[in-house]
Amino acid sequence: MSKLFKHLVIFYFCIVSPGLLAQDLPRHNPVPGGVAVVDLKLNSAKAPVVEFLKRRVMVVKGKNNNWHAVVGLPLTLKKGSQTLTVKTEDTRKRKFSIKHKKYELRQITIPNERMVSPTKEDIERHLKEKPLMTAALNTWTEQDEVPMSFIKPVEGRFSSQFGLRRQYNKQKRIRNHTGLDIAAPNGTPIIAPAKGRVIRTGNYFFTGGTVFIDHGQGLVTLYCHLSKIDVKEGDEVNQSDRIGEVGSTGRVSGPHLHWVVSLNNTKVEPKLFLKTNN
Ligand SMILES: [Zn+2]
Repeated sequence: MSKLFKHLVIFYFCIVSPGLLAQDLPRHNPVPGGVAVVDLKLNSAKAPVVEFLKRRVMVVKGKNNNWHAVVGLPLTLKKGSQTLTVKTEDTRKRKFSIKHKKYELRQITIPNERMVSPTKEDIERHLKEKPLMTAALNTWTEQDEVPMSFIKPVEGRFSSQFGLRRQYNKQKRIRNHTGLDIAAPNGTPIIAPAKGRVIRTGNYFFTGGTVFIDHGQGLVTLYCHLSKIDVKEGDEVNQSDRIGEVGSTGRVSGPHLHWVVSLNNTKVEPKLFLKTNN
């Protein structure tokens, strides 16, 4: 290869192609409950298949034209080294590190005691619903580009942050808050934060009126406690399309949207996908 040609190729990949190929990525925040954006240092025509903790993870082109893995990190991870399995013609390992993050403890009062100490029937209902919800979160749709520049799905203040360790009605059990709460009056419109396809809607014991949207490559968002659902399974939605209304169905202490962002079937901090933090 002549030196000039080599320089032209480098120029193309560094300057020209990013505008054509690069897409928005979430913010890299490698903590439990965060997202790791890992440069795989590969720019093959075909995307590698990447797995983390035996689950397939999203792979998209970054601004430097390299493939990047976008990995959802479970809240249960500890700080230290983690490994991705990267499959091209051969299989290689790619290490990345997780930083420590401490989530605060919060006391939550739920007026409806049955939501904290469910009856036998309630538990049976929940056990029937859970696999359906897990299956929806496990959805994988092949798609080259994934919309990852989200807008806020409802106007309102963040009333409970993602990850908080929460104790309901002084019970012993502590659970992490796996979504981001946005407080708003009953009936406030909820919009799709990005383009996607509605893969499930329903009314569940804990989450009340719920909508699941698939955005591609394992990125699924859900909207809980809705008083009204305006979409149905199979609907294609664009950013800003109305999907329902804020309510107080399911386990709540007042009307709000509980918004979940799931990557590789791992619930992560939704704010990493928002352009601004407020
Ligand atoms: Zn919540």
